[in-house]
Amino acid sequence: MHTVIVGGGFAGVKAALELSKRHIGKITLISDEPYFLHHATLYATATGKSKAESVIPLDEIFAASPNVTIVVDTITSLDPERKLVVGKQKSYSYDSLVLAIGSVTTFFNIDGMAKHAFGIKSLEEVNDFLGHIEREVIADKHFDSNYFIIGAGPTGVELAGALNEHLRHLADVHRTVRGKVKVTLVEAAPRIIPRSSSTAAEIVSRRLKKLGIGVLINHKVQALDKDTITIDGKKVATETAVWTSGVANNPFFAANSHFFQLAPNGRVNVNQYLQAYKDIYVLGDNNTVKFGGMAWPALDQGKFIAKHLARVAAKRPLRAFRPKQPPSGLPVGHGWGYVEWHGFYVSGRTGYFARRLMELYGYAQLVPLRTAIAVWRAHDVPEVDL
Ligand SMILES: Cc1cc2nc3c(=O)[nH]c(=O)nc-3n(C[C@H](O)[C@H](O)[C@H](O)COP(=O)(O)OP(=O)(O)OC[C@H]3O[C@@H](n4cnc5c(N)ncnc54)[C@H](O)[C@@H]3O)c2cc1C
Repeated sequence: MHTVIVGGGFAGVKAALELSKRHIGKITLISDEPYFLHHATLYATATGKSKAESVIPLDEIFAASPNVTIVVDTITSLDPERKLVVGKQKSYSYDSLVLAIGSVTTFFNIDGMAKHAFGIKSLEEVNDFLGHIEREVIADKHFDSNYFIIGAGPTGVELAGALNEHLRHLADVHRTVRGKVKVTLVEAAPRIIPRSSSTAAEIVSRRLKKLGIGVLINHKVQALDKDTITIDGKKVATETAVWTSGVANNPFFAANSHFFQLAPNGRVNVNQYLQAYKDIYVLGDNNTVKFGGMAWPALDQGKFIAKHLARVAAKRPLRAFRPKQPPSGLPVGHGWGYVEWHGFYVSGRTGYFARRLMELYGYAQLVPLRTAIAVWRAHDVPEVDL
């Protein structure tokens, strides 16, 4: 049996590791990058913390899994009749195919956004952003008066807290006069972190206020150009706006929609075994399963699919996937966090440690504990002393 897994993210890596442990046939993991990206810490890497906590080479993850072949290629189409998945470099035949290729950023056609906004969804975007701050603050000894983060979901809020601290740190280290520098979150919804509870929004809002971070809720960004942002018709000067809003399903599924049943949000409908088509499974951010769009549910689905394929191979009775509600948590500046789960929450220093423990748990799902601890501890190491 040959299982081809596409996507070296949370769901794909977990599926490959779990399948590898079960020794069922040959496993090929195809991903368009040679590394796994830990999105939850990209806000920190984008503000000067170590890359080691966000970027883990796939070779390292699978060092002890000789039955997993890693291929770097970008998958573009499918031929289910011939059981082929087609990449930019070649086609790959499969007995079972697992697609876990994550989501992409969408800019809702906002004028100039795709061209001028920074992002922190990929390593390339993170490097661009770091380069911009380095050029501006270190080389040109200049701060913007306004740093805008568009989207006050968890990523935007985390980034706002970290960027605020990073700019202060850079001003101190490089003895640059900061003047009146303001980090502002802009959110179109009536409150911040709209997918979390109202308690979370209230407590986190208080924290942002304490840090001096501006929050504009119910405000729409209409345009962005090189040096101004337009919010509700008003132009404000800035050379730094980071887009953390808007995700859409990977365009691969719309391009191959004749094989999939797509929900109105573009995600793929799957059955109780996460199956979307004969011998094709769709996991993580790509499907419509409850609690999607988060890392732990993607890990759960990766684990499930390995067990499922083992049951199929052994002709044992099948079990349905049961989604579990994950905890959600976010750090806002160093040493402060908020975590909630099933209606309970912790905040402040305890919240920060709870969130850090969540990160450790996530790493330990992917690499041996010793490596997980090393990667986790990299959070406290600056990448370069800017
Ligand atoms: C900035 C940011 C912060 C986040 N913070 C949190 C958080 O704090 N907590 C949380 O629970 N969730 C968080 N998330 C969401 C979480 O990261 C995702 O839900 C999770 O990564 C989904 O896992 P996945 O395996 O479905 O996709 P991904 O982890 O995105 O993996 C997709 C993989 O597919 C590869 N790929 C894409 N297209 C192709 C192709 N055509 N061919 C081959 N390979 C391809 C990609 O390179 C990637 O390796 C965050 C997301 C972002 C962007």
